Amino acid sequence: MGTPIVIVGSGFAAAAAVVHLVDHGIPCKALTVVGPGALGAGQAYGCVSPFFRLNVRPDIQRLWPEQPDHFPDWARRHINDPQAQTPLGPFYRRSDFARYITDELQRLPNYDALNHLSHVVIDIRREQNRWILTTDKGSEITASRVVIATGNPSPQWPGGIDAPTEPSLVRVPWRGDWIHEVDRQSPVCLVGSGLTAMDALYALHETDHQGPVYVLSPYGLLPPVQLDWKSSPAIEWPSVHNARSFVKAMRGTLKNDEWLDQEWQERFEALRVGLSAAWQQLPVHERLKLMHRLGWLWSLQRFRASPHTVQAVHRMRERGQLNIIRASMLGLSASRSKQWLVSLSDDESIACRTVINCTGAGRDPLIDKLASHQIIGTLSAGGAPSVNAQQQLVSPDDVAHQDLFLIGASSTLALGDVVGSTSIARQAVQLAKTVCSIRAG
Ligand SMILES: Cc1cc2nc3c(=O)[nH]c(=O)nc-3n(C[C@H](O)[C@H](O)[C@H](O)COP(=O)(O)OP(=O)(O)OC[C@H]3O[C@@H](n4cnc5c(N)ncnc54)[C@H](O)[C@@H]3O)c2cc1C
Repeated sequence: MGTPIVIVGSGFAAAAAVVHLVDHGIPCKALTVVGPGALGAGQAYGCVSPFFRLNVRPDIQRLWPEQPDHFPDWARRHINDPQAQTPLGPFYRRSDFARYITDELQRLPNYDALNHLSHVVIDIRREQNRWILTTDKGSEITASRVVIATGNPSPQWPGGIDAPTEPSLVRVPWRGDWIHEVDRQSPVCLVGSGLTAMDALYALHETDHQGPVYVLSPYGLLPPVQLDWKSSPAIEWPSVHNARSFVKAMRGTLKNDEWLDQEWQERFEALRVGLSAAWQQLPVHERLKLMHRLGWLWSLQRFRASPHTVQAVHRMRERGQLNIIRASMLGLSASRSKQWLVSLSDDESIACRTVINCTGAGRDPLIDKLASHQIIGTLSAGGAPSVNAQQQLVSPDDVAHQDLFLIGASSTLALGDVVGSTSIARQAVQLAKTVCSIRAG
Protein backbone atom coordinates (compact mmCIF):
# COMPACT_ATOMS: atom_id res chain seq x y z
CA MET A 1 0.00 0.00 0.00
CA GLY A 2 1.29 3.51 -0.85
CA THR A 3 1.79 6.34 1.62
CA PRO A 4 -1.63 7.44 2.83
CA ILE A 5 -3.41 10.75 2.84
CA VAL A 6 -3.50 11.56 6.53
CA ILE A 7 -6.40 13.55 7.98
CA VAL A 8 -5.55 15.16 11.30
CA GLY A 9 -8.65 15.53 13.47
CA SER A 10 -11.64 13.29 14.10
CA GLY A 11 -14.63 15.63 14.13
CA PHE A 12 -17.25 16.49 11.53
CA ALA A 13 -14.66 18.11 9.23
CA ALA A 14 -12.50 14.98 9.20
CA ALA A 15 -15.54 12.77 8.53
CA ALA A 16 -16.70 15.11 5.74
CA ALA A 17 -13.20 14.96 4.23
CA VAL A 18 -13.32 11.13 4.26
CA VAL A 19 -16.82 10.99 2.75
CA HIS A 20 -16.05 13.43 -0.07
CA LEU A 21 -12.57 12.08 -0.86
CA VAL A 22 -14.11 8.61 -1.20
CA ASP A 23 -16.98 10.07 -3.23
CA HIS A 24 -14.32 11.48 -5.60
CA GLY A 25 -12.73 8.07 -6.09
CA ILE A 26 -10.09 7.81 -3.35
CA PRO A 27 -10.41 4.41 -1.63
CA CYS A 28 -10.75 4.14 2.16
CA LYS A 29 -7.55 2.07 2.31
CA ALA A 30 -5.60 5.14 1.08
CA LEU A 31 -6.80 7.20 4.06
CA THR A 32 -5.60 7.44 7.66
CA VAL A 33 -7.48 9.51 10.24
CA VAL A 34 -5.63 10.58 13.38
CA GLY A 35 -7.73 11.92 16.24
CA PRO A 36 -9.44 10.85 19.45
CA GLY A 37 -12.96 9.47 19.80
CA ALA A 38 -15.52 8.31 17.25
CA LEU A 39 -14.89 9.77 13.80
CA GLY A 40 -17.40 12.55 13.05
CA ALA A 41 -18.34 13.39 16.63
CA GLY A 42 -15.60 15.87 17.61
CA GLN A 43 -16.09 18.75 20.01
CA ALA A 44 -19.40 19.74 18.45
CA TYR A 45 -21.38 16.47 18.30
CA GLY A 46 -19.46 14.24 20.71
CA CYS A 47 -21.61 15.40 23.62
CA VAL A 48 -23.07 13.07 26.20
CA SER A 49 -25.77 15.47 27.31
CA PRO A 50 -29.24 14.78 25.86
CA PHE A 51 -29.98 18.51 26.37
CA PHE A 52 -27.52 19.73 23.76
CA ARG A 53 -29.37 20.21 20.51
CA LEU A 54 -28.47 21.38 17.04
CA ASN A 55 -28.96 25.10 16.69
CA VAL A 56 -30.36 24.83 13.17
CA ARG A 57 -33.17 22.96 11.43
CA PRO A 58 -32.12 19.62 9.93
CA ASP A 59 -32.25 20.84 6.30
CA ILE A 60 -29.48 23.33 7.13
CA GLN A 61 -27.33 20.74 8.87
CA ARG A 62 -25.62 19.08 5.92
CA LEU A 63 -22.92 16.56 5.14
CA TRP A 64 -23.97 16.61 1.47
CA PRO A 65 -24.08 20.35 0.75
CA GLU A 66 -26.43 20.12 -2.24
CA GLN A 67 -28.87 17.70 -0.58
CA PRO A 68 -30.94 19.57 2.02
CA ASP A 69 -33.25 16.55 2.50
CA HIS A 70 -30.51 14.03 3.23
CA PHE A 71 -30.25 14.41 7.02
CA PRO A 72 -34.01 15.15 7.50
CA ASP A 73 -34.89 11.93 5.62
CA TRP A 74 -32.44 9.91 7.73
CA ALA A 75 -33.76 11.59 10.89
CA ARG A 76 -37.37 10.64 10.09
CA ARG A 77 -36.29 7.00 9.82
CA HIS A 78 -33.82 6.81 12.71
CA ILE A 79 -34.64 9.41 15.40
CA ASN A 80 -37.46 9.00 17.88
CA ASP A 81 -37.42 12.29 19.76
CA PRO A 82 -40.87 13.91 20.13
CA GLN A 83 -39.29 16.71 22.18
CA ALA A 84 -37.27 17.79 19.14
CA GLN A 85 -40.41 19.16 17.46
CA THR A 86 -41.02 22.91 17.47
CA PRO A 87 -43.27 25.14 15.33
CA LEU A 88 -40.14 25.85 13.24
CA GLY A 89 -39.44 22.16 12.63
CA PRO A 90 -37.37 19.66 14.57
CA PHE A 91 -34.16 20.60 16.38
CA TYR A 92 -32.52 17.25 16.99
CA ARG A 93 -29.96 16.29 19.59
CA ARG A 94 -26.36 16.89 18.56
CA SER A 95 -25.52 13.30 19.53
CA ASP A 96 -28.13 12.11 16.98
CA PHE A 97 -26.34 14.05 14.25
CA ALA A 98 -23.16 12.17 15.25
CA ARG A 99 -25.09 8.88 14.74
CA TYR A 100 -26.05 10.03 11.25
CA ILE A 101 -22.41 10.74 10.40
CA THR A 102 -21.39 7.29 11.68
CA ASP A 103 -24.08 5.74 9.50
CA GLU A 104 -22.90 7.64 6.44
CA LEU A 105 -19.29 6.59 7.06
CA GLN A 106 -20.25 2.95 7.44
CA ARG A 107 -21.98 3.04 4.07
CA LEU A 108 -18.73 3.93 2.30
CA PRO A 109 -17.25 1.11 0.19
CA ASN A 110 -14.63 -0.83 2.23
CA TYR A 111 -14.96 1.52 5.19
CA ASP A 112 -13.27 -1.11 7.37
CA ALA A 113 -10.05 -0.52 5.40
CA LEU A 114 -9.82 3.05 6.71
CA ASN A 115 -7.07 3.37 9.30
CA HIS A 116 -8.19 5.40 12.36
CA LEU A 117 -5.60 6.07 15.06
CA SER A 118 -6.80 7.56 18.34
CA HIS A 119 -3.75 9.77 18.72
CA VAL A 120 -3.22 13.52 18.85
CA VAL A 121 -0.74 14.95 16.36
CA ILE A 122 1.71 17.24 18.11
CA ASP A 123 4.10 18.05 15.28
CA ILE A 124 4.47 17.84 11.51
CA ARG A 125 7.70 18.14 9.56
CA ARG A 126 8.76 17.81 5.96
CA GLU A 127 11.25 15.11 4.94
CA GLN A 128 12.00 15.18 1.21
CA ASN A 129 8.64 14.75 -0.48
CA ARG A 130 6.84 13.28 2.54
CA TRP A 131 5.30 14.63 5.72
CA ILE A 132 6.22 13.06 9.05
CA LEU A 133 3.64 13.46 11.80
CA THR A 134 4.59 12.95 15.45
CA THR A 135 1.85 11.91 17.83
CA ASP A 136 1.35 12.35 21.57
CA LYS A 137 2.06 8.62 21.96
CA GLY A 138 5.54 9.07 20.51
CA SER A 139 4.83 7.35 17.20
CA GLU A 140 5.55 8.75 13.75
CA ILE A 141 3.27 8.55 10.74
CA THR A 142 4.42 9.13 7.17
CA ALA A 143 2.01 10.84 4.79
CA SER A 144 2.01 11.75 1.11
CA ARG A 145 -0.59 14.45 1.79
CA VAL A 146 -1.97 15.91 5.00
CA VAL A 147 -5.35 17.47 5.68
CA ILE A 148 -5.58 19.56 8.86
CA ALA A 149 -9.13 19.27 10.25
CA THR A 150 -8.49 20.05 13.90
CA GLY A 151 -11.62 22.18 14.35
CA ASN A 152 -12.44 23.89 17.62
CA PRO A 153 -9.54 23.81 20.08
CA SER A 154 -10.67 23.38 23.68
CA PRO A 155 -11.64 26.68 25.36
CA GLN A 156 -9.28 28.35 27.83
CA TRP A 157 -10.31 30.60 30.72
CA PRO A 158 -10.45 34.21 29.48
CA GLY A 159 -7.70 36.73 30.03
CA GLY A 160 -5.11 34.05 30.78
CA ILE A 161 -6.76 33.22 34.13
CA ASP A 162 -4.97 30.20 35.56
CA ALA A 163 -7.87 28.43 37.30
CA PRO A 164 -7.32 25.22 39.25
CA THR A 165 -8.68 21.93 37.91
CA GLU A 166 -11.87 21.36 39.90
CA PRO A 167 -15.18 19.77 38.84
CA SER A 168 -16.94 23.01 39.82
CA LEU A 169 -14.78 25.01 37.36
CA VAL A 170 -15.90 23.79 33.95
CA ARG A 171 -13.30 24.96 31.45
CA VAL A 172 -14.64 22.87 28.51
CA PRO A 173 -18.42 22.56 28.76
CA TRP A 174 -19.10 21.13 25.27
CA ARG A 175 -19.50 17.46 26.22
CA GLY A 176 -22.09 18.29 28.85
CA ASP A 177 -20.67 15.78 31.34
CA TRP A 178 -20.69 18.47 34.08
CA ILE A 179 -24.46 18.90 34.35
CA HIS A 180 -25.15 16.25 36.95
CA GLU A 181 -22.31 17.55 39.14
CA VAL A 182 -24.02 20.91 39.68
CA ASP A 183 -25.70 21.39 43.05
CA ARG A 184 -29.33 22.24 42.19
CA GLN A 185 -29.73 24.92 44.84
CA SER A 186 -26.45 26.73 44.41
CA PRO A 187 -25.53 29.78 42.31
CA VAL A 188 -23.94 29.16 38.90
CA CYS A 189 -21.97 31.65 36.80
CA LEU A 190 -21.75 31.33 33.01
CA VAL A 191 -18.83 33.25 31.56
CA GLY A 192 -19.91 34.32 28.06
CA SER A 193 -23.33 34.65 26.45
CA GLY A 194 -23.28 32.92 23.05
CA LEU A 195 -24.67 29.57 21.94
CA THR A 196 -22.60 27.58 24.47
CA ALA A 197 -24.18 29.64 27.25
CA MET A 198 -27.63 28.97 25.74
CA ASP A 199 -26.88 25.22 25.82
CA ALA A 200 -25.82 25.48 29.45
CA LEU A 201 -28.97 27.44 30.35
CA TYR A 202 -31.18 24.86 28.67
CA ALA A 203 -29.38 22.02 30.45
CA LEU A 204 -29.76 23.76 33.82
CA HIS A 205 -33.43 24.37 33.12
CA GLU A 206 -34.07 20.77 32.10
CA THR A 207 -32.32 19.44 35.22
CA ASP A 208 -34.58 21.67 37.31
CA HIS A 209 -31.82 23.86 38.63
CA GLN A 210 -33.21 26.04 41.44
CA GLY A 211 -30.33 28.34 42.34
CA PRO A 212 -29.59 31.70 40.74
CA VAL A 213 -27.78 31.75 37.40
CA TYR A 214 -25.51 34.64 36.42
CA VAL A 215 -24.55 35.15 32.78
CA LEU A 216 -21.61 37.44 32.09
CA SER A 217 -22.19 39.15 28.77
CA PRO A 218 -19.95 41.94 27.43
CA TYR A 219 -22.92 43.49 25.56
CA GLY A 220 -25.70 42.34 27.88
CA LEU A 221 -27.39 40.35 25.11
CA LEU A 222 -28.23 36.71 24.43
CA PRO A 223 -28.49 35.21 20.91
CA PRO A 224 -31.85 35.68 19.16
CA VAL A 225 -34.02 32.71 18.26
CA GLN A 226 -33.92 30.99 14.87
CA LEU A 227 -36.85 32.08 12.69
CA ASP A 228 -38.88 30.18 10.14
CA TRP A 229 -36.92 31.59 7.21
CA LYS A 230 -37.09 30.08 3.73
CA SER A 231 -34.16 29.94 1.35
CA SER A 232 -34.35 32.67 -1.26
CA PRO A 233 -32.04 33.26 -4.23
CA ALA A 234 -28.55 34.44 -3.32
CA ILE A 235 -28.17 38.21 -3.21
CA GLU A 236 -25.30 39.35 -5.37
CA TRP A 237 -22.62 41.38 -3.62
CA PRO A 238 -21.25 44.54 -5.23
CA SER A 239 -17.48 44.71 -5.41
CA VAL A 240 -16.15 45.57 -1.95
CA HIS A 241 -12.64 46.78 -1.22
CA ASN A 242 -12.64 47.88 2.41
CA ALA A 243 -14.53 47.49 5.69
CA ARG A 244 -16.69 50.53 4.96
CA SER A 245 -17.91 49.30 1.55
CA PHE A 246 -18.51 45.83 3.04
CA VAL A 247 -20.73 47.25 5.80
CA LYS A 248 -22.47 49.54 3.28
CA ALA A 249 -23.30 46.52 1.08
CA MET A 250 -24.74 44.65 4.06
CA ARG A 251 -26.74 47.63 5.33
CA GLY A 252 -28.09 48.30 1.84
CA THR A 253 -29.55 44.79 1.73
CA LEU A 254 -30.65 44.37 5.31
CA LYS A 255 -32.25 47.84 5.40
CA ASN A 256 -32.85 47.91 9.18
CA ASP A 257 -31.91 46.17 12.43
CA GLU A 258 -35.08 44.12 12.79
CA TRP A 259 -33.24 40.84 13.46
CA LEU A 260 -36.35 39.25 14.86
CA ASP A 261 -38.18 39.71 11.61
CA GLN A 262 -38.37 36.61 9.39
CA GLU A 263 -37.80 38.58 6.18
CA TRP A 264 -34.71 40.15 7.74
CA GLN A 265 -33.23 36.72 8.39
CA GLU A 266 -34.15 35.63 4.86
CA ARG A 267 -32.26 38.62 3.41
CA PHE A 268 -29.35 37.95 5.79
CA GLU A 269 -29.12 34.30 4.75
CA ALA A 270 -29.39 35.19 1.04
CA LEU A 271 -26.52 37.64 1.54
CA ARG A 272 -24.47 35.06 3.40
CA VAL A 273 -24.37 32.75 0.33
CA GLY A 274 -21.91 35.06 -1.43
CA LEU A 275 -20.25 36.37 1.70
CA SER A 276 -17.09 34.27 1.53
CA ALA A 277 -16.29 35.46 -2.00
CA ALA A 278 -16.90 39.09 -0.99
CA TRP A 279 -14.80 38.61 2.16
CA GLN A 280 -11.86 37.33 0.12
CA GLN A 281 -11.88 40.55 -1.94
CA LEU A 282 -10.96 42.53 1.19
CA PRO A 283 -7.35 43.14 2.22
CA VAL A 284 -6.58 41.20 5.41
CA HIS A 285 -6.25 44.34 7.55
CA GLU A 286 -9.78 45.39 6.49
CA ARG A 287 -11.11 41.93 7.48
CA LEU A 288 -9.43 42.28 10.87
CA LYS A 289 -10.92 45.74 11.29
CA LEU A 290 -14.39 44.33 10.62
CA MET A 291 -13.89 41.46 13.06
CA HIS A 292 -12.54 43.76 15.73
CA ARG A 293 -15.28 46.40 15.46
CA LEU A 294 -18.32 44.42 14.38
CA GLY A 295 -17.49 40.79 15.13
CA TRP A 296 -19.71 40.77 18.22
CA LEU A 297 -22.71 42.10 16.25
CA TRP A 298 -22.13 39.66 13.42
CA SER A 299 -22.00 36.77 15.90
CA LEU A 300 -25.28 37.85 17.47
CA GLN A 301 -27.06 38.12 14.13
CA ARG A 302 -25.50 34.98 12.65
CA PHE A 303 -25.52 32.43 15.48
CA ARG A 304 -29.13 31.96 16.43
CA ALA A 305 -30.38 29.75 19.19
CA SER A 306 -32.80 26.85 19.02
CA PRO A 307 -36.36 27.49 20.24
CA HIS A 308 -35.74 25.05 23.11
CA THR A 309 -32.97 27.14 24.59
CA VAL A 310 -34.79 30.45 24.10
CA GLN A 311 -37.90 29.10 25.82
CA ALA A 312 -35.80 27.92 28.78
CA VAL A 313 -34.34 31.43 29.04
CA HIS A 314 -37.85 32.96 29.08
CA ARG A 315 -38.92 30.63 31.89
CA MET A 316 -35.80 31.32 33.95
CA ARG A 317 -36.34 35.05 33.47
CA GLU A 318 -39.98 34.77 34.53
CA ARG A 319 -38.91 32.95 37.69
CA GLY A 320 -36.40 35.74 38.44
CA GLN A 321 -33.64 33.13 38.41
CA LEU A 322 -31.58 34.54 35.54
CA ASN A 323 -29.28 37.53 35.95
CA ILE A 324 -27.56 38.88 32.86
CA ILE A 325 -24.64 40.99 33.92
CA ARG A 326 -23.03 43.32 31.42
CA ALA A 327 -19.42 42.62 32.33
CA SER A 328 -16.49 40.30 31.66
CA MET A 329 -14.62 38.02 34.03
CA LEU A 330 -11.30 39.44 35.20
CA GLY A 331 -10.27 37.05 37.94
CA LEU A 332 -11.23 34.07 40.06
CA SER A 333 -10.49 33.16 43.66
CA ALA A 334 -11.77 30.70 46.23
CA SER A 335 -13.84 32.14 49.09
CA ARG A 336 -14.05 30.78 52.64
CA SER A 337 -17.61 29.54 52.17
CA LYS A 338 -16.55 26.94 49.54
CA GLN A 339 -17.65 29.24 46.77
CA TRP A 340 -15.82 30.85 43.88
CA LEU A 341 -15.52 34.59 43.76
CA VAL A 342 -15.60 35.83 40.16
CA SER A 343 -14.29 39.38 39.85
CA LEU A 344 -15.82 41.44 37.10
CA SER A 345 -14.82 44.27 34.78
CA ASP A 346 -17.38 46.58 36.48
CA ASP A 347 -15.45 46.30 39.78
CA GLU A 348 -18.12 44.04 41.29
CA SER A 349 -17.77 40.36 42.06
CA ILE A 350 -20.17 37.45 42.33
CA ALA A 351 -20.03 34.38 44.51
CA CYS A 352 -21.07 31.05 43.03
CA ARG A 353 -20.56 27.33 43.48
CA THR A 354 -19.98 26.48 39.80
CA VAL A 355 -18.33 28.51 37.03
CA ILE A 356 -18.88 27.43 33.42
CA ASN A 357 -16.58 28.77 30.74
CA CYS A 358 -18.71 29.65 27.70
CA THR A 359 -16.14 31.85 25.95
CA GLY A 360 -15.62 29.71 22.85
CA ALA A 361 -12.76 27.94 21.14
CA GLY A 362 -9.14 28.37 22.21
CA ARG A 363 -5.98 28.44 20.11
CA ASP A 364 -4.78 25.54 17.99
CA PRO A 365 -1.33 24.31 19.11
CA LEU A 366 -0.72 22.33 15.92
CA ILE A 367 -1.43 25.30 13.66
CA ASP A 368 0.83 27.42 15.88
CA LYS A 369 3.55 24.78 15.51
CA LEU A 370 3.25 24.73 11.70
CA ALA A 371 3.56 28.51 11.71
CA SER A 372 6.55 28.52 14.06
CA HIS A 373 8.32 26.00 11.78
CA GLN A 374 7.69 28.42 8.87
CA ILE A 375 5.69 25.73 7.05
CA ILE A 376 2.59 27.91 6.85
CA GLY A 377 1.96 31.64 6.86
CA THR A 378 -0.47 33.33 9.23
CA LEU A 379 -2.78 36.28 8.66
CA SER A 380 -3.08 37.64 12.19
CA ALA A 381 -1.41 37.81 15.57
CA GLY A 382 -4.07 35.29 16.65
CA GLY A 383 -2.41 32.71 14.39
CA ALA A 384 -5.14 32.42 11.70
CA PRO A 385 -3.58 30.25 8.98
CA SER A 386 -3.17 31.37 5.42
CA VAL A 387 -5.26 29.02 3.26
CA ASN A 388 -6.50 29.53 -0.29
CA ALA A 389 -9.89 28.81 -1.87
CA GLN A 390 -8.62 25.37 -3.03
CA GLN A 391 -8.09 24.53 0.69
CA GLN A 392 -4.31 24.51 0.29
CA LEU A 393 -2.25 25.91 3.13
CA VAL A 394 0.04 28.68 1.99
CA SER A 395 3.70 29.09 3.00
CA PRO A 396 5.03 32.30 4.63
CA ASP A 397 6.41 33.34 1.22
CA ASP A 398 2.96 32.92 -0.31
CA VAL A 399 3.37 29.61 -2.15
CA ALA A 400 0.44 27.18 -1.96
CA HIS A 401 1.43 23.69 -0.72
CA GLN A 402 0.48 20.93 -3.16
CA ASP A 403 0.18 18.35 -0.38
CA LEU A 404 -0.90 20.22 2.76
CA PHE A 405 -4.54 21.24 3.16
CA LEU A 406 -6.88 22.65 5.78
CA ILE A 407 -10.64 22.67 6.22
CA GLY A 408 -12.76 24.03 9.06
CA ALA A 409 -13.38 27.05 11.22
CA SER A 410 -9.74 28.14 11.46
CA SER A 411 -9.97 29.19 7.79
CA THR A 412 -12.55 31.87 8.66
CA LEU A 413 -10.20 34.86 8.44
CA ALA A 414 -8.84 33.59 5.13
CA LEU A 415 -12.05 32.40 3.51
CA GLY A 416 -15.06 33.94 5.27
CA ASP A 417 -17.94 32.42 7.18
CA VAL A 418 -16.81 28.80 7.76
CA VAL A 419 -18.34 27.62 10.99
CA GLY A 420 -21.49 25.57 10.41
CA SER A 421 -21.59 22.02 9.09
CA THR A 422 -22.77 22.94 5.59
CA SER A 423 -19.92 25.37 4.89
CA ILE A 424 -17.40 22.84 6.22
CA ALA A 425 -18.96 20.14 4.02
CA ARG A 426 -18.57 22.51 1.03
CA GLN A 427 -14.89 22.86 1.90
CA ALA A 428 -14.58 19.07 2.05
CA VAL A 429 -16.01 18.83 -1.49
CA GLN A 430 -13.52 21.48 -2.66
CA LEU A 431 -10.68 19.63 -0.90
CA ALA A 432 -11.58 16.41 -2.73
CA LYS A 433 -11.63 18.25 -6.07
CA THR A 434 -8.24 19.85 -5.39
CA VAL A 435 -6.62 16.58 -4.23
CA CYS A 436 -7.94 14.76 -7.31
CA SER A 437 -6.92 17.51 -9.73
CA ILE A 438 -3.36 17.63 -8.33
CA ARG A 439 -3.19 13.82 -8.55
CA ALA A 440 -4.41 13.88 -12.15
CA GLY A 441 -2.01 16.70 -13.06
C1 LIG B 1 -20.34 23.04 21.02
C2 LIG B 1 -20.54 23.27 19.57
C3 LIG B 1 -21.79 23.11 19.00
C4 LIG B 1 -21.99 23.31 17.63
N1 LIG B 1 -23.23 23.14 17.10
C5 LIG B 1 -23.41 23.26 15.77
C6 LIG B 1 -24.70 23.01 15.17
O1 LIG B 1 -25.68 22.74 15.85
N2 LIG B 1 -24.78 23.10 13.82
C7 LIG B 1 -23.70 23.42 13.03
O2 LIG B 1 -23.83 23.44 11.80
N3 LIG B 1 -22.51 23.69 13.58
C8 LIG B 1 -22.33 23.61 14.91
N4 LIG B 1 -21.10 23.86 15.46
C9 LIG B 1 -20.04 24.30 14.58
C10 LIG B 1 -19.05 23.16 14.35
O3 LIG B 1 -17.80 23.78 14.52
C11 LIG B 1 -19.11 22.53 12.99
O4 LIG B 1 -20.43 22.17 12.63
C12 LIG B 1 -18.29 21.23 12.88
O5 LIG B 1 -18.81 20.24 13.71
C13 LIG B 1 -16.84 21.41 13.22
O6 LIG B 1 -16.20 20.19 13.01
P1 LIG B 1 -14.63 20.06 13.14
O7 LIG B 1 -14.28 18.65 12.86
O8 LIG B 1 -14.00 21.13 12.31
O9 LIG B 1 -14.33 20.47 14.64
P2 LIG B 1 -14.48 19.75 16.05
O10 LIG B 1 -15.89 19.35 16.30
O11 LIG B 1 -13.85 20.71 17.00
O12 LIG B 1 -13.60 18.44 15.97
C14 LIG B 1 -12.19 18.48 15.85
C15 LIG B 1 -11.65 17.14 16.27
O13 LIG B 1 -10.26 17.09 15.99
C16 LIG B 1 -9.56 16.61 17.11
N5 LIG B 1 -8.23 17.21 17.12
C17 LIG B 1 -7.91 18.52 17.36
N6 LIG B 1 -6.56 18.69 17.29
C18 LIG B 1 -6.04 17.48 16.96
C19 LIG B 1 -4.70 17.02 16.74
N7 LIG B 1 -3.66 17.85 16.82
N8 LIG B 1 -4.51 15.71 16.45
C20 LIG B 1 -5.57 14.86 16.34
N9 LIG B 1 -6.86 15.25 16.55
C21 LIG B 1 -7.08 16.54 16.85
C22 LIG B 1 -10.39 17.04 18.31
O14 LIG B 1 -10.11 16.22 19.41
C23 LIG B 1 -11.80 16.87 17.76
O15 LIG B 1 -12.23 15.55 17.91
C24 LIG B 1 -20.90 23.69 16.82
C25 LIG B 1 -19.63 23.86 17.40
C26 LIG B 1 -19.45 23.63 18.75
C27 LIG B 1 -18.07 23.80 19.35
